[in-house]
Amino acid sequence: MIPKSHPRYESLILRKKIAEGVEKGIVHITGLIAHGRGEAFDYLLGEKTQSFASKAARAAAAFMRVAKKAVISVNGNAAMLAGKEIVKLGKETNAKIEVNLFHRSRERIEKIIRLLESYGGENILGMEGDARIDGLEHDRAICSYDGIYTADVVLVPLEDGDRCEALKKMGKIVLTVDLNPLSRTARMADVTIVDNITRAIPNIRKEYKKIRDAEKIIREWNNEKNLQQALDFICDRLRNLY
Ligand code: ATP
Ligand code: MG
Repeated sequence: MIPKSHPRYESLILRKKIAEGVEKGIVHITGLIAHGRGEAFDYLLGEKTQSFASKAARAAAAFMRVAKKAVISVNGNAAMLAGKEIVKLGKETNAKIEVNLFHRSRERIEKIIRLLESYGGENILGMEGDARIDGLEHDRAICSYDGIYTADVVLVPLEDGDRCEALKKMGKIVLTVDLNPLSRTARMADVTIVDNITRAIPNIRKEYKKIRDAEKIIREWNNEKNLQQALDFICDRLRNLY
């Protein structure tokens, strides 16, 4: 048991969840490394949603609002850390959920689908793997025809840069959540929410409900500028003790 009074309580809880995910066969062993990298950036971001991240969540919500077909791609880390919230977001935005793994295994996909179903998820895609993302080799390319393949907007939190680029080349609007504003994923996406997925998904839900003029939000959106703000914030924190 981690005592609630521990100054790093929240962070330790997330670590525990990810470790449990590995034990249950939901998180791939390399997911631990990805989480560690994320943690380091979260520390620099003050482990709070900063204003640039709120703005990005609003932009992501706007793109989901205008989407003809939005799909949320879920991997093991995302399912363990934000599965419940992702299921809710899918229902509220009418987006499909697809379990799509970098290290694909049928067993792991099945386990993640079961987990999401335990949170109320329905018709979750992923097992069929009946289409391929253009320009990628090996199992990393496999996706669902009814999901990512035919979506116009894809929310791919914690995604690999290469796959993000391939989705862009297929003409999709890519929304991502990535604590590292320097990652290839972050720079490749149309909207990058530089925030922890545990905070970003509830923020998208909140913003989605508030949207009045999605087109205007999209017109005014500049991802590069937003990433620069995230980087400036991190640099300031590294220079000044606050
Ligand atoms: P690339 O430059 O190709 O995008 P990458 O560093 O993003 O590479 P991965 O390790 O596959 O490669 O991706 C994990 C990314 O997810 C990291 O950038 C990390 O910062 C981010 N990340 C990890 N945990 C979280 C989390 N809980 N919330 C948000 N982002 C996270
Ligand atoms: Mg990445």
